[in-house]
Amino acid sequence: MDLTASVTSLGGVGTITAGKLAKLGVNTVFDLLYHLPFRYEDRRQVSLAKSARVGETTTVIGTISAVKNVFTKNGKRLQTATFTDASGTLTVIWFNQMYLSRVFTPGTEVALFGKVDFFSGRPALISPEYELVTAESSAIHLRRLVPIYPETAGLTSKWLRTKIYYLLPQLEADFMPSNSTKLQPWAQALHAAHFPSSLEGVTSARHRLAFDELLLLELAAKLRREKWAKTRLAHPFQIDQEKVLEFINRLPFALTGSQNQSTKEILADLSKPIPMNRLLAGDVGSGKTVVAAVGTYVAHLNGWSSLVMAPTQILATQHFHTLSALFAPLGIKVELVTGSRKLPKDSQWDILVGTHALFSQTLQLTKVGLVVIDEQHRFGVAQRTLATSLGKSPHILTMTATPIPRTVALTMYGDLDLSTLSDLPIGRLPVKTWVVPEPKREASYTWIAQQMATTHSQAFWVCPFIDQSDSLTSVKAATVEFEKLKKVFGKFKLALLHGKMKAADKDKVIASFQKKEIDMVVATPVVEVGLDIPGANIMVIEGADRFGLAGLHQLRGRVGRSSQQAYCLLFADSATPRLQAMEKYHSGQQLAEMDLKLRGAGELYGTAQHGSVQFKVATYADFDLLPQAKAAAQQLFPKLSKLPTLRSLVATGKIELVQPN
Ligand code: ADP
Ligand code: MG
Repeated sequence: MDLTASVTSLGGVGTITAGKLAKLGVNTVFDLLYHLPFRYEDRRQVSLAKSARVGETTTVIGTISAVKNVFTKNGKRLQTATFTDASGTLTVIWFNQMYLSRVFTPGTEVALFGKVDFFSGRPALISPEYELVTAESSAIHLRRLVPIYPETAGLTSKWLRTKIYYLLPQLEADFMPSNSTKLQPWAQALHAAHFPSSLEGVTSARHRLAFDELLLLELAAKLRREKWAKTRLAHPFQIDQEKVLEFINRLPFALTGSQNQSTKEILADLSKPIPMNRLLAGDVGSGKTVVAAVGTYVAHLNGWSSLVMAPTQILATQHFHTLSALFAPLGIKVELVTGSRKLPKDSQWDILVGTHALFSQTLQLTKVGLVVIDEQHRFGVAQRTLATSLGKSPHILTMTATPIPRTVALTMYGDLDLSTLSDLPIGRLPVKTWVVPEPKREASYTWIAQQMATTHSQAFWVCPFIDQSDSLTSVKAATVEFEKLKKVFGKFKLALLHGKMKAADKDKVIASFQKKEIDMVVATPVVEVGLDIPGANIMVIEGADRFGLAGLHQLRGRVGRSSQQAYCLLFADSATPRLQAMEKYHSGQQLAEMDLKLRGAGELYGTAQHGSVQFKVATYADFDLLPQAKAAAQQLFPKLSKLPTLRSLVATGKIELVQPN
């Protein structure tokens, strides 16, 4: 049995069914085996026909009379039969299942499972599920704990159950050598997860299967890491400590402890002959940009140029300004490429900042020694791969503000080295956060106006999240809100900002906001990523209950970027637990953990927006298995060539980073 083979290799699965399975994320035999039930229905209890009560769901075993097709007056087709067991009889009704008259010959022994209800004024078993009971038949659908699977149109649990039931006995030996784990043997775990004899066994079975996923992820990361080291040759940079220190000392602030540490780690990588492949993770506002800037400076000192990629034009423009300010005095030339700004033909640059528009320009990239990818989760896999191939085996620094626990990050990005910015710049105050219910709206307007007048605070006003994309509806909502707010905040200067605006207009708004010519920016959730306006310290979020915690945290991170007290007002109908968490917690890590608690173990923090590992079985609750999975991966990796099943599972990358865009 080839676990990596397509489901079409299974009997009775054609391309149409395969298409349906794909909707469930099931493409291979392996996927099908790891498509676990989300619940089990207890159909073990067999009742007697005479004790069937209207309103109850029941399993009965007995014989069935001939099934009669009946056509009702209003053109419906139904099937009726009489079920008999030792205690008495029951009428059975199905709808539109003409073939049933061929399934049951009179006297067939069956198990039926369904609900008893009135039919034509008398109790009857309505549309029960059935299973023939013969000497050699096994209980698949009835008389057991029955697995109920995530389904899709045209693919029922019954179908999945049958397929998996007949697949299980065909399994070969465990794909891991027996000594590599103390967990349940593989085939046994699969059996217990799909067809448990008791619910107690399910947890440990799932645990074993979750372990498999973590192990595969670890092994895949090792494989990528090995490939990276084997196929790439970097240009080891000289590190001129003195010049680097000079650069850092010229900054208008002292680096935080973790900025210093991360800088050190990055410089160490840059001096090696294997290209750096490092992730710099740091909460919003932790100061990742300047750390990356040191890297680009070292590249420059070595005669190499750098690319800095950002997911949005606004952010690219911002980086362009930040880096220009840092580097212009040193005679280092920074340039910008976005969808609306092409590079002049023979432009000379040392550092090129850009959006994905970089890919569509013919650029002279042979001198690129370092590629920085900011907010890397916002780029697709293909884009990131492309980015790493710009230039000649450049060093790669990716950055993210997605707050995930370190262990999780190390797993999700197992092939990258990880640096973490764990402290915020000194003097930052936590953003005071309040949930504002509707009755307090007017009063809060007054407070905001007062705050803006007395402290010259600037404000963001974020309109509700209406559509995934920054679609027209969101734009319309923002425009309406903008007109309303202009009346409320008559004496202030307001501007509108949304994704459908022309790039140049967006830039103008941001630039004027930066220069404090604008007091308030009314925006669609487009302001979410990366924007750095130190003068803004009021963040208002409309319809806050529609945002996820990750999104709220990102938005709030737009303010509180100076030593002034900042405020975040969350307008919502009610203070949901999520919003209460926002009032209470300020670090991304704490919110990430809170989010896990609120959602249950299922989804990793912010995955919908940020992409993450797509596990079929493993949840956060299984992450205590990580050390074991790592150890097993360590032990198995050198032997991978002798473990064909495991090897092909790893190579086909069943478990990998998926980045929805
Ligand atoms: P992020 O990590 O969210 O990308 P930025 O790099 O945009 O954060 O930095 C946020 C702000 O903090 C910027 O205005 C930056 O100049 C400032 N900053 C960065 N490091 C420090 C520091 N060590 N001390 C004070 N301010 C800093
Ligand atoms: Mg940033």
